[in-house]
Amino acid sequence: MNGMRCATARALATGVLLWSVAAAQADIFRPSKEDQVKLGTDAAAKVRKSEKLLPDDHPRVRLLRSAAQRILDAIPADQRKKEIWKFSFDVIDKKEVNAFAFPGGPIFFFNGLIDKLETEDQLAGVLAHEMTHVRNQHWASAYADNMKRRLGITAILTIFNAGSSAFDIAGVADDLLVGLPYSRKHESEADRVGLDLMVRAGYNPEGLEFVMRMFASEGGRPWEFVSSHPDPNNRSKAIAKWIKESGKTFPPSTPLSPEVRKKADGQGVKQPAATKKDG
Ligand SMILES: [Zn+2]
Repeated sequence: MNGMRCATARALATGVLLWSVAAAQADIFRPSKEDQVKLGTDAAAKVRKSEKLLPDDHPRVRLLRSAAQRILDAIPADQRKKEIWKFSFDVIDKKEVNAFAFPGGPIFFFNGLIDKLETEDQLAGVLAHEMTHVRNQHWASAYADNMKRRLGITAILTIFNAGSSAFDIAGVADDLLVGLPYSRKHESEADRVGLDLMVRAGYNPEGLEFVMRMFASEGGRPWEFVSSHPDPNNRSKAIAKWIKESGKTFPPSTPLSPEVRKKADGQGVKQPAATKKDG
């Protein structure tokens, strides 16, 4: 018997075992797409109850939704067919310079962010970034990673050996829906994929670069309280590089209309309790 070969075989076997455990770990804690939609829908309903939102016919809301539709229409049909996301787009009447997405599709912008924007392309850049977080299920990955860290390897092995899913929708606390940081990798992916998407939709990608530069110049405050973002300075540089390397020319940016630019503070309303419309 060749001792060396035996040790190698053992190392290989261990490697394969660890690899398969690692591969399985990611999945046992991962909420399904359906669970993500359910969690996001419930969380959005809570936001609509607790915050004042600009009404549906407000110019800011109408622009946000038409830009979002334009971006959704730009998703290739074969991808869209497979997606079950329930997107919604609302503006919260608060001064925060921020926007965020819940898993499964609900996206909220704050009045304070729209106050800072000059073009529809900038708005579209943030939208496409947030929609990519949803479509690429970044929250579900962050949630699974968080559970792995909290439980440790022994518990994971136990659950793994039991062969069941460890995801429990009732166990997801509110703070985990908004408090989970996305990884650097996810942020960069949301920038990159979002950029492609906004370009497909006919927007000028410099809009996203502008927003990133704005955050950098304002002391690096990133959007999304759900996120521990990488330095916006580096991100704006990365975006500028992608735009340059694409070698393409892009359509001119579309300035926001005076109605959209007009400050909308205090125009938010609380969502009425029952809003189910017929027809
Ligand atoms: Zn992000």
